[in-house]
Amino acid sequence: MSMVTYASSRGRSPEIGFTDTLLGGLAPDGGLYLPTDWPRLTESAPSTYADLATAVMAPFVADSIDLDDFAPMVDDAYSAFAHPDVCPLVELEPGHHLLELFYGPTLAFKDVALQLVGRLFDHELERRDQRVTIVGATSGDTGSAAMEAVRNRERVDIVILFPKGRTSEVQRRQMTTLDAPNVHAVAIDGTFDDCQDLVKAMFADEAFRTRVGLSAVNSINWARVMAQIVYYVWAAQLLDRRSTPTTFCVPTGNFGNVFAGHVAHRMGLPVDRFIVASNTNDILTRLIASGEMVAEDVVATLSPSMDIQISSNLERLLFELLDGNGPATAELISGFRAHGRAALSASQHEALIAEFAGTRLTDAETLEIISEVHERSGMLVEPHTAIGIGAARRVRRPDETVVTLATAHPAKFPDAVEQATGIRPGLPAHLHDLFDRAERVHDLPNDLHVVEDFVQSVRRG
Ligand SMILES: *Cc1c(COP(=O)(O)O)cnc(C)c1O
Repeated sequence: MSMVTYASSRGRSPEIGFTDTLLGGLAPDGGLYLPTDWPRLTESAPSTYADLATAVMAPFVADSIDLDDFAPMVDDAYSAFAHPDVCPLVELEPGHHLLELFYGPTLAFKDVALQLVGRLFDHELERRDQRVTIVGATSGDTGSAAMEAVRNRERVDIVILFPKGRTSEVQRRQMTTLDAPNVHAVAIDGTFDDCQDLVKAMFADEAFRTRVGLSAVNSINWARVMAQIVYYVWAAQLLDRRSTPTTFCVPTGNFGNVFAGHVAHRMGLPVDRFIVASNTNDILTRLIASGEMVAEDVVATLSPSMDIQISSNLERLLFELLDGNGPATAELISGFRAHGRAALSASQHEALIAEFAGTRLTDAETLEIISEVHERSGMLVEPHTAIGIGAARRVRRPDETVVTLATAHPAKFPDAVEQATGIRPGLPAHLHDLFDRAERVHDLPNDLHVVEDFVQSVRRG
C-alpha cells in the first residue's frame, strides 16, 4: 500500500506523518496540512459504509496506524449512527438525490468525521501517553459534534468558542448541556470569524501552544477532511456511478466538506463538477464568478453554519490551484488578510471553474425551497440543505445527475422549518429532553489574553 506524508500549504514546515497532523491541527508556519500524494481509490466496492471507509482512508493513515487497529475504530464510529446505511441516499426528484449526513449523535454531518476523529485521538494519545487541550471555533455544528466526540475522554480537555447569540437554540443547547468535566462552551462577544481568528492566534502563540498542549478538531484538521472523502465514494457506489461522473452540490461554509469531494475526485472518483451553494455570505460564489476574493462583513442568516466570509479550508484549494507552491499560497493569503481582497490569475481561475460552479440563495429563497419541498414530497429539510437543493436546481443541466449533501437534520433548525411549513420538526429520542437540561456556558470578550487565561484555567492534569 502506498503511504502518504503531509506538507503545509505554506511550504515552510517540515513534512510529518498522519498522527502528527491529527494532533497538531495547523502547521507551525500557519498553513494547513495536505497529503504530498493522492492515493488512488481501489476498484473494490465493499457493501457496508464502515468497510468502504476503512478501504478509502487506509492509505492516509498507513504510516502510523495499524490496519488491525484502524478498522475496529471505524466500525465503532459508524455503529453509533441511527441508519443502517450510515449516510443514506434518497431521491428528491428525477436525477436529483439527497445524501443524508445527519444520522450521527448531534444531527449534522460533522459527526461523520468527528466520531472517528475522537477515537483516533484516544488511540494515539494512549499510545504516546500524552494529553491535549482541544480548542475550536464553531459557527454552530462543529462545537457540539467535537464535544460529543471527546466527552469524558481522560486525555482530552476541550474548549469550544462560539459567536454569542448567532447559533440556533438547539445548536447552543447541544454545546452547553453536555454534562462532562472535560467539556467547556464559551460564548464570545463577536462573529464566527472572530472566534476562528482567536483560535488561529492561540495556535500562533508558540509558548501558549506548548504550555497547554494545544490541538484542534475544527475543519482545518486533515483527519476530518479525510473522513469526509468517504461519503462521496459511497454516494457514487449507491447510485452505481463508480465509473460515471456525478455532480455534487455542497452547502458550503468553511469549504471543508466540498474540499473532501475534491480530494475524492483527485483520488479517481469520476466527478462532473461541484456546485458550491452559499447563503448571502457568498465570498466563494463571487470568487468562482469573478476570480477575485473580496471580503465583506458577515451577515446573520437562517443557515448560521454557513455565515462565514473567510473559509479556512479554501487555503487547501488555493494551494492546489497554485501548483503546490507554498510561499505563493502564503503570499496570496496574507495579501487577502491585509487588504480584504486577492485575485487569481486567469489560468488559476480557469482551473477553478473547470471543477466548481457556485450560486447563492437569500433567506427568502431558502424558505421558499423548504416550503416547496414539503408541499411536493412531504419531506422536511432544514435551511442549509435547502440552499443546496435550490442551488442544484438552479445550476443543473437537464441531463446532469446531482447529489446534494443534506448536512443537518431538520430538528436542528426548527424555527426556520416551522416558519416555512407550519410544522415544527421533533427532536429524535436521544435528545428529547434537550430543552429541560441545565446549561453551562462562559461568556468572554473577543480578547486573546482573556481567552488564553480561561483555557489555561480549565485544563486538567
Ligand atoms: C458545517 C456545516 C456546513 C458547512 O460545511 P463546511 O465544511 O464548513 O463548508 C453546512 N451545513 C451544516 C449544517 C453545517 O453544520
